[in-house]
Amino acid sequence: MYDVIIVGGGPAGTSAAMLLGRCVRNVLLFDSGLGRNRWSNHMNGFISRDGYNPVEFIKLAREELKKYPVEVKNQIVKSVKRVENYFEVTDRDDHCYVARKVLLATGLKDKLPDIPGMEEKYGKSVHHCPYCDGWESRNKPLGAYGKGRDAVGLSLSLKTWSNDVTLYTDGTRKLRREDSALLEANDIKICTASIERLAGAGSELSEIILQGGRSLKCEALFFSTGSEQQCDLATNLGCDFTSKGVVRTYKNQQTNIPGLYVAGDASRDMQLVIVAASEGTKAGVMINKELQEEFRLQITDVRV
Ligand SMILES: Cc1cc2nc3c(=O)[nH]c(=O)nc-3n(C[C@H](O)[C@H](O)[C@H](O)COP(=O)(O)OP(=O)(O)OC[C@H]3O[C@@H](n4cnc5c(N)ncnc54)[C@H](O)[C@@H]3O)c2cc1C
Repeated sequence: MYDVIIVGGGPAGTSAAMLLGRCVRNVLLFDSGLGRNRWSNHMNGFISRDGYNPVEFIKLAREELKKYPVEVKNQIVKSVKRVENYFEVTDRDDHCYVARKVLLATGLKDKLPDIPGMEEKYGKSVHHCPYCDGWESRNKPLGAYGKGRDAVGLSLSLKTWSNDVTLYTDGTRKLRREDSALLEANDIKICTASIERLAGAGSELSEIILQGGRSLKCEALFFSTGSEQQCDLATNLGCDFTSKGVVRTYKNQQTNIPGLYVAGDASRDMQLVIVAASEGTKAGVMINKELQEEFRLQITDVRV
């Protein structure tokens, strides 16, 4: 039996694995290799690794794990079941593993707007998070894309990085009057026309082409169209979710299921690499403490 099985080898999962390895716990880490920021060449805002390549970052983390009792499998986990006081974890090849504790660090996936040119530019000149990519886009003509109220908030936020901001609603004309007034007061342009495609060489964005042929200059587009869990393990285990579609976690990444932890983007809180890594570490400490308590109780029983 493993002490801990971690599902997801992004920043959250690898940080937890390192902490638990350093606690001499035998850990099995599963990863299917689809980190959320794999679309981007740069991971910004992580102290000492600012601008580093995200794929290289995970390779480095995996290299560092080699000296600890952490086994890594590049494999998809298809189910996790709680049986009495342990967990059964089954991978895609139907191999079953058991562990005392489980950490899900399985992340989210973004719902990309379905517009020609979007996918090739995603992570390079099309982004979802100004905290990740706002600095590199500063002072450029920026666009905020979205059909709901979140997009209004995103447009207002982008003013931190540029004075030239346009909200693109892509055919949705029903903006609330007070939102339009707020945008206008903050000198944000509103474009409600439907978008035909994103134009620019390769991954660069230079213009947004509207239906009918009109085009507007835009060098970075931020979108607000939501995200979803990358897999359904937490749902199938019966985890509580917040209204934003992430797992409701408590102070140190515990969930409503005893022995089950969730860290990183899949759980409540900000969605940044450094936050995910920190949550993985917090979960690792709590899991270790729980295991320490359980082992201590067994020793007391023997004495009695
Ligand atoms: C385009 C883009 C750019 C970004 N840029 C930045 C940035 O510059 N700075 C920053 O701080 N943040 C950035 N982010 C946010 C950042 O990517 C996330 O906050 C971070 O990756 C979250 O880490 P995580 O470990 O929770 O999840 P992830 O990194 O998404 O890792 C989850 C892992 O779990 C694996 N997995 C999922 N389900 C299973 C399963 N069933 N079995 C096995 N493995 C599974 C996946 O394959 C994946 O490897 C960016 C996001 C995007 C989309």
